[in-house]
Amino acid sequence: MKIICPSCQYVGESKAIAKGSRKIEIALWCCLLLPGILYTMWRQSQEGRYEGCPECLESKVRVLKRKDWKLYERSGRLPSN
Ligand SMILES: [Zn+2]
Repeated sequence: MKIICPSCQYVGESKAIAKGSRKIEIALWCCLLLPGILYTMWRQSQEGRYEGCPECLESKVRVLKRKDWKLYERSGRLPSN
């Protein structure tokens, strides 16, 4: 998926980023084993991920249409709308 990031102006391929935090995951594993397992499963499932900016991990990115991406590749300009 090709994206435009509104916060750092990154243009290119998006990245699947895991929601939640590694720290919470570790804390849950240490204190309470069962929630830790569930939390890890959630982070590794589809619902626990989002497509976002690989540079700044922004989730509210604009998805580029195939046509728009082609235009960007050819001209180096982004379609304005
Ligand atoms: Zn970004």
